[in-house]
Amino acid sequence: MSYATTINETHDPELTSWVESANQENCDFPIQNLPFAIFRRAGTSEAFRGGVAIGDMIVDMAAAKGCGIFEGVAQAAASACDAPQLNGLMAMGSEAWSALRLALSRALRNGSDAQSKLEACLVSQDDVEYSLPCQIGDYTDFYTSIYHATAVGRLFRPDNPLLPNYKWVPIGYHGRSSSIDVSGQTFRRPKGQLKAPDAAAPTFGACKRLDYELEIGIYIGKGNELGESIKLDNADEHVFGLCLFNDWSARDIQGWEYQPLGPFLAKNFASTVSPWIVTNEALAPFRTEWTRDEADPQPLDYLESEANRTKGGFDVSLEVQLETEKMREAGEPASHLSLSNFRHSYWTVAQMVAHHTVNGCNLRPGDMFGSGTQSGPEHEEAGSLLELSRGGKEEIKLDNGEVRKFLEDGDTVIMRGWCAKEGFKRIGFGEVTSTVLPADQ
Ligand code: CA
Repeated sequence: MSYATTINETHDPELTSWVESANQENCDFPIQNLPFAIFRRAGTSEAFRGGVAIGDMIVDMAAAKGCGIFEGVAQAAASACDAPQLNGLMAMGSEAWSALRLALSRALRNGSDAQSKLEACLVSQDDVEYSLPCQIGDYTDFYTSIYHATAVGRLFRPDNPLLPNYKWVPIGYHGRSSSIDVSGQTFRRPKGQLKAPDAAAPTFGACKRLDYELEIGIYIGKGNELGESIKLDNADEHVFGLCLFNDWSARDIQGWEYQPLGPFLAKNFASTVSPWIVTNEALAPFRTEWTRDEADPQPLDYLESEANRTKGGFDVSLEVQLETEKMREAGEPASHLSLSNFRHSYWTVAQMVAHHTVNGCNLRPGDMFGSGTQSGPEHEEAGSLLELSRGGKEEIKLDNGEVRKFLEDGDTVIMRGWCAKEGFKRIGFGEVTSTVLPADQ
């Protein structure tokens, strides 16, 4: 059994923390979670450094590493968090990640001797700003929701929605990491070549069909050597954790440019990650079976294993909300758009890792995969406006009476994720939030 699918004392639902806010019902960051981010006190010139969320506080790892509560490999892992990026921690591998998680879990529990030492290392989440959690070297975007692939394929190719390779290959393309930023990102509406499906020629201008994509981000921990492949059942050793990921998309640029080589300027103007990385180990209770319809092609051998069948999936609920400028001005709450789940994915994280490296391609610590838009089987579970508005044909009604087909200037998209299962403590991903600014004039 992999460390990432084994339940241990850190997952015990009875554990409570001396940080009181962590024990509240529906808290995203109970002691069973312990996700990582890079932060500093807002408005200061302090160095960015690693932190671990507990309730509404952050354990400042730059301070905590020297307070005498860590030993051995856990001490080395804690020291690696005192850096402006988590790549060093990610490179250390699962033994170090697990040792640090166990030490933090024990130190933060009610009754721990470490309380008096760690109390001075806490910073309120209300007082901080975040940075990207690591230097993302390479970013690869997959396309693992068959519901999204079919719905989008139908819009772009009505008579041929799902291409024949889809059920054999975890489809992906190499994206661009330079425009990925952390939650709170704002960006100008992109400009480019736009062509409506029925127009004879493109025009140049600001995107009119701006969209979000509800995705899971997957951070690679330990890498592999060029020329070596990561086997399916060893993939968990290379996955540090998951985040929320909004892969902004310009549909009218995409529809014109995507053939024959795939997405380009429709995707690389902005992408936003949540500040917190929920570790692979924290997600162990929420691993779930993965199945392939018997009527579909079964995976080739390098993408097939018993462990992947029994524990390859992740049960993560994913929600999208929209807050318009009018809602903000009126002090009204954001409007719910959709609810989906990562367990619907046609391919697992392990299959993405195994496929990506099967030709010898090397992954490096801090590389990130996008899961692809996670639409569920039902229309209201769609992870993009393109699907919810049926290609811009239907208006989506918001709670305050406004309507949308695609995003307007001033719109803020909010994504949340959480895991809940009988017998375990609910854990959350926090949120990823980002706002569309008007196009540059
Ligand atoms: Ca995408």
